[in-house]
Amino acid sequence: MEEILRIQNLSKRYGDMPVLDHVDLSVKKGEVVVIVGPSGCGKSTFLRCMNALEEIQEGKVLLDGELINPCRGKLNLVRQRIGMVFQSYELFPHKTVLQNMTLAPVRVKKKDRREAEEEAREMLERVGLLSRKDSYPRQLSGGQKQRVAIVRALMMHPEVLLLDEITAALDPEMVREVLEVVIALAREGRTMVIVTHEMAFARAVADRMIFIDGGRIIEEGDPESFFEHPQTERLKKFLKSFSYSRE
Ligand code: ADP
Ligand code: MG
Repeated sequence: MEEILRIQNLSKRYGDMPVLDHVDLSVKKGEVVVIVGPSGCGKSTFLRCMNALEEIQEGKVLLDGELINPCRGKLNLVRQRIGMVFQSYELFPHKTVLQNMTLAPVRVKKKDRREAEEEAREMLERVGLLSRKDSYPRQLSGGQKQRVAIVRALMMHPEVLLLDEITAALDPEMVREVLEVVIALAREGRTMVIVTHEMAFARAVADRMIFIDGGRIIEEGDPESFFEHPQTERLKKFLKSFSYSRE
């Protein structure tokens, strides 16, 4: 498989505080990489560095061979090519579902409004939300909002999709409907980097698991060996805290 995203020797500090310490990661086209690690270990920061939402102090991020962080201009273009979905949905509250979805394609990509609306309807249909196209975000459940946020990101046809704990704010009964959407995207061959605390989901969706602790990649591997045969004490301990270890 061809490489699409490469993170090389990346270091990130906030002031004097190191957050990411010489991290390397390569993501192939169609690959689903799932990142787990304790709270505060730098997962969100890592994702934000990948689409140039954060300045980095060392190293580089390449998208399809092109330097995108450190970034000189073209920030908008980078964010079209790498979509991101957050825990907090970030939908525009005073716009309908359909307007939320067509805004960026029409304004930023200069897509024909009619075409954008047609595509948005198809996407909503696929996630079971076509009937809510004229609703406002406040009229939707958390699970519905998050499904809208995911398909809104897809409207830009990103080459890579970054998902940062997208079910962390949801009531338990809504987690599943959102994760099922992500699993369907994985089956379609979308390239995704996912941060999650849902270990069963991670195992089901990941081509490759990454464990970050203290700003470094401590362990990585295919889901089976990652969950069944963790090598480091730190990962064993981490998995145990999710009751996901056999020991
Ligand atoms: P995670 O997503 O793994 O929980 P984060 O990437 O959010 O971790 O945060 C990593 C560390 O960086 C934490 O110690 C956090 O407090 C700190 N941090 C995150 N964002 C900022 C910021 N904008 N300014 C200063 N410190 C930050
Ligand atoms: Mg986070």
